[in-house]
Amino acid sequence: CGIVGYIGYREAFPIIIKGLQRLEYRGYDSAGIALFDGNQINLSKTKGKVEDLKNKAKEISQKGSIGIGHTRWATHGVPNDVNSHPHYSNSGELVIIHNGIIENYESIKKELTKRGYIFHSDTDTEVLVNLIEEVKKTENVKLGKAVQIALNQVVGAYAIAVFDKQKPDEIVVAKLGSPLAIGIGENEFFIASDASPFIEFTNNAIYLEDEEMAIIRLGKEIKLRKIKDDAVA
Ligand code: GLU
Repeated sequence: CGIVGYIGYREAFPIIIKGLQRLEYRGYDSAGIALFDGNQINLSKTKGKVEDLKNKAKEISQKGSIGIGHTRWATHGVPNDVNSHPHYSNSGELVIIHNGIIENYESIKKELTKRGYIFHSDTDTEVLVNLIEEVKKTENVKLGKAVQIALNQVVGAYAIAVFDKQKPDEIVVAKLGSPLAIGIGENEFFIASDASPFIEFTNNAIYLEDEEMAIIRLGKEIKLRKIKDDAVA
Protein backbone atom coordinates (compact mmCIF):
# COMPACT_ATOMS: atom_id res chain seq x y z
CA CYS A 1 0.00 0.00 0.00
CA GLY A 2 3.04 2.24 0.20
CA ILE A 3 5.86 2.60 -2.29
CA VAL A 4 9.29 4.13 -1.80
CA GLY A 5 12.24 4.12 -4.17
CA TYR A 6 15.60 5.81 -4.45
CA ILE A 7 18.25 6.14 -7.11
CA GLY A 8 21.23 8.44 -6.64
CA TYR A 9 24.41 8.64 -4.63
CA ARG A 10 23.28 8.29 -1.01
CA GLU A 11 22.75 5.05 0.88
CA ALA A 12 19.23 4.03 -0.12
CA PHE A 13 18.44 1.84 2.89
CA PRO A 14 17.80 4.51 5.55
CA ILE A 15 15.90 6.72 3.10
CA ILE A 16 13.60 3.86 2.12
CA ILE A 17 13.01 2.62 5.68
CA LYS A 18 12.21 6.10 6.93
CA GLY A 19 10.03 6.69 3.90
CA LEU A 20 8.07 3.51 4.53
CA GLN A 21 7.52 4.62 8.11
CA ARG A 22 6.09 7.92 6.87
CA LEU A 23 3.65 5.95 4.73
CA GLU A 24 2.54 3.69 7.57
CA TYR A 25 -0.65 5.74 7.97
CA ARG A 26 -1.88 4.19 4.72
CA GLY A 27 -2.20 0.84 6.51
CA TYR A 28 -0.34 -2.41 5.74
CA ASP A 29 0.39 -5.96 6.88
CA SER A 30 3.91 -6.61 5.52
CA ALA A 31 7.00 -4.73 4.42
CA GLY A 32 10.01 -5.34 2.20
CA ILE A 33 13.02 -3.82 0.51
CA ALA A 34 15.38 -4.62 -2.39
CA LEU A 35 18.73 -2.92 -2.85
CA PHE A 36 21.35 -3.22 -5.57
CA ASP A 37 24.83 -3.16 -4.03
CA GLY A 38 26.74 -2.71 -7.28
CA ASN A 39 26.96 -6.43 -7.82
CA GLN A 40 23.75 -8.15 -6.79
CA ILE A 41 20.25 -7.48 -5.50
CA ASN A 42 19.78 -7.98 -1.77
CA LEU A 43 16.19 -8.45 -0.72
CA SER A 44 14.48 -8.70 2.64
CA LYS A 45 10.76 -8.86 3.37
CA THR A 46 8.52 -9.89 6.19
CA LYS A 47 4.99 -9.98 7.46
CA GLY A 48 4.66 -7.34 10.16
CA LYS A 49 5.82 -3.80 10.69
CA VAL A 50 8.56 -1.70 9.08
CA GLU A 51 10.33 -2.05 12.43
CA ASP A 52 10.32 -5.85 11.93
CA LEU A 53 11.73 -5.34 8.44
CA LYS A 54 14.50 -3.18 9.87
CA ASN A 55 15.48 -6.07 12.16
CA LYS A 56 15.18 -8.75 9.52
CA ALA A 57 17.20 -6.71 7.02
CA LYS A 58 20.20 -7.05 9.34
CA GLU A 59 20.65 -10.43 7.62
CA ILE A 60 21.37 -8.79 4.26
CA SER A 61 23.84 -6.23 2.99
CA GLN A 62 22.21 -2.83 3.38
CA LYS A 63 24.56 -1.24 0.89
CA GLY A 64 23.47 0.38 -2.31
CA SER A 65 22.31 3.63 -3.86
CA ILE A 66 19.41 2.17 -5.76
CA GLY A 67 16.52 0.45 -4.09
CA ILE A 68 12.79 0.00 -3.71
CA GLY A 69 10.67 -0.60 -0.63
CA HIS A 70 7.05 -1.51 -0.04
CA THR A 71 4.36 -1.82 2.56
CA ARG A 72 1.74 -4.33 1.50
CA TRP A 73 -1.96 -4.45 2.10
CA ALA A 74 -2.72 -7.96 0.88
CA THR A 75 -5.38 -8.39 -1.79
CA HIS A 76 -4.20 -11.63 -3.48
CA GLY A 77 -2.53 -14.15 -1.22
CA VAL A 78 -2.49 -14.08 2.59
CA PRO A 79 -0.13 -11.77 4.45
CA ASN A 80 3.08 -13.77 4.85
CA ASP A 81 6.79 -13.39 4.11
CA VAL A 82 6.67 -14.97 0.64
CA ASN A 83 3.71 -12.88 -0.56
CA SER A 84 5.34 -9.67 0.65
CA HIS A 85 6.96 -7.39 -1.91
CA PRO A 86 9.38 -6.86 -3.61
CA HIS A 87 8.99 -9.77 -6.02
CA TYR A 88 11.66 -11.12 -8.37
CA SER A 89 11.04 -12.29 -11.90
CA ASN A 90 12.04 -15.89 -12.64
CA SER A 91 15.48 -14.92 -13.94
CA GLY A 92 16.13 -12.96 -10.75
CA GLU A 93 17.03 -9.94 -12.86
CA LEU A 94 13.89 -7.87 -12.42
CA VAL A 95 12.43 -6.80 -9.12
CA ILE A 96 9.07 -5.06 -8.60
CA ILE A 97 6.89 -3.40 -5.99
CA HIS A 98 3.21 -2.86 -6.65
CA ASN A 99 0.20 -1.25 -5.03
CA GLY A 100 -3.19 -2.19 -6.38
CA ILE A 101 -4.74 -5.17 -8.09
CA ILE A 102 -4.10 -6.94 -11.40
CA GLU A 103 -7.60 -8.21 -12.09
CA ASN A 104 -6.78 -10.53 -14.98
CA TYR A 105 -3.72 -12.07 -13.32
CA GLU A 106 -5.12 -15.61 -13.43
CA SER A 107 -5.30 -15.84 -17.21
CA ILE A 108 -1.85 -14.26 -17.54
CA LYS A 109 -0.49 -16.67 -14.94
CA LYS A 110 -1.89 -19.64 -16.85
CA GLU A 111 -0.27 -18.49 -20.06
CA LEU A 112 3.09 -17.84 -18.38
CA THR A 113 2.94 -21.21 -16.61
CA LYS A 114 2.50 -22.87 -20.02
CA ARG A 115 5.67 -21.09 -21.09
CA GLY A 116 7.56 -22.53 -18.15
CA TYR A 117 7.30 -19.78 -15.55
CA ILE A 118 7.21 -20.81 -11.91
CA PHE A 119 5.43 -18.84 -9.20
CA HIS A 120 6.56 -18.77 -5.61
CA SER A 121 3.84 -16.53 -4.20
CA ASP A 122 0.07 -16.28 -4.54
CA THR A 123 0.19 -12.63 -5.56
CA ASP A 124 -1.02 -10.90 -8.68
CA THR A 125 2.19 -8.85 -8.50
CA GLU A 126 4.53 -11.78 -9.17
CA VAL A 127 2.51 -12.45 -12.32
CA LEU A 128 3.08 -8.89 -13.51
CA VAL A 129 6.86 -8.93 -13.03
CA ASN A 130 7.10 -12.18 -14.98
CA LEU A 131 4.90 -10.81 -17.73
CA ILE A 132 7.31 -7.88 -18.01
CA GLU A 133 10.21 -10.32 -18.17
CA GLU A 134 8.52 -12.43 -20.84
CA VAL A 135 7.76 -9.36 -22.98
CA LYS A 136 11.30 -8.07 -22.54
CA LYS A 137 12.73 -11.37 -23.76
CA THR A 138 10.34 -12.21 -26.56
CA GLU A 139 10.09 -8.69 -27.97
CA ASN A 140 13.75 -7.99 -27.28
CA VAL A 141 13.01 -4.51 -25.90
CA LYS A 142 14.33 -2.36 -23.07
CA LEU A 143 12.72 -2.39 -19.65
CA GLY A 144 10.63 0.76 -20.22
CA LYS A 145 9.11 -0.61 -23.41
CA ALA A 146 8.54 -4.02 -21.81
CA VAL A 147 6.69 -2.42 -18.91
CA GLN A 148 4.56 -0.44 -21.33
CA ILE A 149 3.64 -3.44 -23.46
CA ALA A 150 2.92 -5.55 -20.37
CA LEU A 151 0.69 -2.90 -18.83
CA ASN A 152 -1.33 -2.74 -22.02
CA GLN A 153 -2.24 -6.40 -21.39
CA VAL A 154 -3.27 -5.76 -17.82
CA VAL A 155 -6.67 -4.89 -16.38
CA GLY A 156 -6.62 -3.35 -12.93
CA ALA A 157 -5.11 -0.64 -10.81
CA TYR A 158 -1.50 -0.10 -9.97
CA ALA A 159 1.41 1.99 -8.91
CA ILE A 160 4.59 0.08 -9.70
CA ALA A 161 8.33 0.52 -9.56
CA VAL A 162 10.62 -1.95 -11.32
CA PHE A 163 14.33 -2.20 -11.80
CA ASP A 164 16.63 -4.46 -13.73
CA LYS A 165 19.84 -5.76 -12.21
CA GLN A 166 21.48 -5.51 -15.65
CA LYS A 167 20.69 -1.78 -15.79
CA PRO A 168 21.08 -0.51 -12.26
CA ASP A 169 21.01 3.17 -13.20
CA GLU A 170 17.31 3.11 -13.98
CA ILE A 171 13.93 2.63 -12.29
CA VAL A 172 10.72 2.42 -14.30
CA VAL A 173 7.47 3.51 -12.65
CA ALA A 174 3.86 3.56 -13.80
CA LYS A 175 0.50 4.39 -12.37
CA LEU A 176 -3.22 3.83 -12.82
CA GLY A 177 -5.49 4.39 -9.85
CA SER A 178 -2.88 4.32 -7.08
CA PRO A 179 -0.77 7.44 -6.44
CA LEU A 180 2.88 7.84 -7.42
CA ALA A 181 5.14 10.86 -6.89
CA ILE A 182 8.69 11.42 -8.13
CA GLY A 183 11.04 13.73 -6.26
CA ILE A 184 13.77 15.28 -8.36
CA GLY A 185 17.06 16.17 -6.68
CA GLU A 186 20.52 16.80 -8.03
CA ASN A 187 21.82 13.53 -9.40
CA GLU A 188 19.17 11.69 -7.45
CA PHE A 189 15.53 10.75 -7.68
CA PHE A 190 12.97 9.67 -5.12
CA ILE A 191 9.83 7.68 -5.71
CA ALA A 192 6.95 7.43 -3.27
CA SER A 193 3.20 7.11 -2.85
CA ASP A 194 3.16 10.71 -1.64
CA ALA A 195 5.84 13.35 -1.17
CA SER A 196 6.33 12.79 2.58
CA PRO A 197 9.27 10.34 2.21
CA PHE A 198 11.37 12.85 0.25
CA ILE A 199 10.15 16.24 1.40
CA GLU A 200 13.37 16.81 3.38
CA PHE A 201 15.51 16.29 0.26
CA THR A 202 13.68 18.18 -2.47
CA ASN A 203 10.62 20.36 -3.18
CA ASN A 204 10.75 19.49 -6.82
CA ALA A 205 8.16 16.80 -7.36
CA ILE A 206 6.01 15.48 -10.13
CA TYR A 207 2.88 13.41 -9.66
CA LEU A 208 2.21 10.84 -12.32
CA GLU A 209 -1.19 10.93 -13.92
CA ASP A 210 -3.29 7.85 -14.51
CA GLU A 211 -1.96 5.75 -17.39
CA GLU A 212 1.35 7.54 -17.24
CA MET A 213 4.76 5.97 -16.78
CA ALA A 214 8.25 7.35 -16.23
CA ILE A 215 11.70 6.08 -17.05
CA ILE A 216 13.95 7.46 -14.35
CA ARG A 217 17.60 7.22 -15.29
CA LEU A 218 20.53 8.67 -13.40
CA GLY A 219 22.12 11.62 -15.14
CA LYS A 220 19.15 11.97 -17.51
CA GLU A 221 15.91 13.88 -17.71
CA ILE A 222 12.91 11.86 -16.61
CA LYS A 223 11.09 10.42 -19.60
CA LEU A 224 7.33 10.62 -19.15
CA ARG A 225 5.19 8.45 -21.39
CA LYS A 226 1.53 7.61 -21.80
CA ILE A 227 1.11 3.89 -21.28
CA LYS A 228 -1.24 3.71 -24.28
CA ASP A 229 1.20 5.53 -26.61
CA ASP A 230 3.33 3.65 -29.06
CA ALA A 231 6.67 5.39 -28.78
CA VAL A 232 8.79 4.52 -25.80
CA ALA A 233 12.52 4.72 -26.09
N1 GLU B 1 -2.25 -6.88 -4.98
C1 GLU B 1 -0.96 -6.86 -4.41
C2 GLU B 1 -0.80 -7.94 -3.36
O1 GLU B 1 -1.76 -8.43 -2.84
C3 GLU B 1 -0.57 -5.48 -3.84
C4 GLU B 1 -1.39 -5.06 -2.64
C5 GLU B 1 -1.04 -3.65 -2.14
O2 GLU B 1 -1.56 -2.67 -2.69
O3 GLU B 1 -0.24 -3.53 -1.19
O4 GLU B 1 0.27 -8.34 -3.07
